[in-house]
Amino acid sequence: TVDLLTFGESMVSLRSTGPLASGGTLNMQVAGAESNVAIGVARLGHTAAWAGSVGADPHGEFILKQLRGEGIQLHHSVHPERSTGVMFLEQRTADLSRAFYYREGSAGSTISRAHVSAALNGGARILHLTGITAALSPEARDAVEYAAVRAAGDGVVVSLDVNYRSKLWSRDQARAVLGPLARHATIVIASDDELDLIAPPQAGSGAAGTATDEASAAARLLDAGVSEVVVKRGAAGAAVYTAEGRLEAPALAVTCVDTVGAGDAFTAGYLSARLDGVDTAGRLHHGILAGAFAVSTRGDWEGLPRTEELALLDAARGSTVR
Ligand code: ATP
Repeated sequence: TVDLLTFGESMVSLRSTGPLASGGTLNMQVAGAESNVAIGVARLGHTAAWAGSVGADPHGEFILKQLRGEGIQLHHSVHPERSTGVMFLEQRTADLSRAFYYREGSAGSTISRAHVSAALNGGARILHLTGITAALSPEARDAVEYAAVRAAGDGVVVSLDVNYRSKLWSRDQARAVLGPLARHATIVIASDDELDLIAPPQAGSGAAGTATDEASAAARLLDAGVSEVVVKRGAAGAAVYTAEGRLEAPALAVTCVDTVGAGDAFTAGYLSARLDGVDTAGRLHHGILAGAFAVSTRGDWEGLPRTEELALLDAARGSTVR
């Protein structure tokens, strides 16, 4: 039994340092919300497994090597005909990045129920799902629904990060799939603007938007059987709603150089603390710490902390730890 199992599409990410229309050097890295979480959890001392498909190309080989190097157990397949998905991450301005995807029909989008079923046979304490995988293809969506139902039935903790991606589907499409899926989840993780995509509708009301709407959306999720509703608020920190009430924590004051992957880092910190049996406040704190590492280092996952590094952010800003 592995501590955390997740599945989805990992891609090659080509990062620019300036506007893509002007060309220049690109840096090749592995990108994928699910593999980011697996890496984060593994660095924090737990066993993590990832299931997914890559193409029979050097891009796929690169992804597998990187994940193996991070100690992730792989349940992968190499698709003989489809290519590994690619994305460009354009640093358009110092404060704004844009993602361009070349992933439609990719090897990663072919992940299916059979593939996931084999990975689940190995057993897991937590199954981590994302709304991205559900948006990849009809087979991938079926695989997510199957895994959620099977794991919940087997008593596995099911974690669902909404991870809404507007380039993959509309909010209405996402709501139709993720709303029913959330009912199988033990833990749901959402940005503050994503709660309305999973919360059961409230009779006669509009979309979530205000603090009261957030509390009421969280209450409806708890009523539907979810145990922990985690809300990420970027630089404003995060909150957790449970049967005991709401806990809030501010973000750490760090120098933000790259926000990509902050949400996945937070999720990895939160879930690894849950695996350690830490209480709600401690889980929130570990999520906040991992998120702070992610935003204050470059790369989607490269700067994620090891257990013994978590305390580093307690040192005064600008200090050298000797
Ligand atoms: P993404 O999809 O880009 O990964 P997200 O919306 O899922 O982002 P955020 O809410 O942006 O996730 O960030 C997750 C966590 O990371 C926050 O709850 C916070 O703890 C931390 N974080 C984000 N931005 C900052 C920041 N500027 N400074 C410190 N911590 C931050």
